[in-house]
Amino acid sequence: MTSRGLIFDIKKYSLHDGPGIRTTIFLSGCPLMCWWCQNPEGQKLDPQEALKIRKKSKSSLTATKELIGREASVEEIAAEIERDRVFYEESGGGVTFSGGEPLMQYAFLSDLLDACLKLKIPTALETCGYAPWEVIRKIKDKVDLFLYDLKLMDEKEHQKYTGASNTQILSNLNKLDVDGKNIIIRFPVIPRITDADGNIRQMTEFLRTLKTVREIDLLPYNKLGKSKYEKLNRLNLLMDLEPPSHERLSQLSDGFKVLGLKVKIGG
Ligand code: SF4
Repeated sequence: MTSRGLIFDIKKYSLHDGPGIRTTIFLSGCPLMCWWCQNPEGQKLDPQEALKIRKKSKSSLTATKELIGREASVEEIAAEIERDRVFYEESGGGVTFSGGEPLMQYAFLSDLLDACLKLKIPTALETCGYAPWEVIRKIKDKVDLFLYDLKLMDEKEHQKYTGASNTQILSNLNKLDVDGKNIIIRFPVIPRITDADGNIRQMTEFLRTLKTVREIDLLPYNKLGKSKYEKLNRLNLLMDLEPPSHERLSQLSDGFKVLGLKVKIGG
């Protein structure tokens, strides 16, 4: 019998979570608390209460409470994934496991990956990399593509803005790289935090040492998560932050291209 787990969303026909057309499954729970998180409803390992605002009449709104996150079985999700097989085959797509941090529900993720292997549907794992190597080692050969977040290189800065050290994250990335895994780096571009010149310099030096990584996706900060914090009644520490300018993004993009990396803006 396979396991059950907690998910907080399923996004169909996604074009930003890996190659081709994808179904993205969002697993609940994350060990980090990034200031810029766009999915705060997925940070905890249990369903989250949120306000749902609806239009009652032309001039009034009504608010009700809803729970975000629900239990699902591997079989149910596999059936959902398989429904769009034709789109994956025609576009070179597949399924992406995202979150939250999917490795937080390791047994569930492992069973989901097994189900995809059986269905011959390509998989991607979007991860912050904060997990014991032993956990990653056990699933790494079932994953076709790692979408691996790289946020801040300085340990203290990482601790400050995400709530955790980056030592394990960098070490796991090094190990996956040495292992020759297919990895795309995902870099959230957060003005004055991750895009600070010192961080870019250290990241450039680190990326130079990797052997198999050939692509980096720049994920510009946006304000789409703002309403989620309001609905969850949570503090948004970056409420007034503006997205990075086009000039800054193309400057960063040019810098990473010099390393021989393919650079994409967005996923
Ligand atoms: S790792 Fe991702 S999901 Fe977790 S808190 Fe950071 S941005 Fe949010």
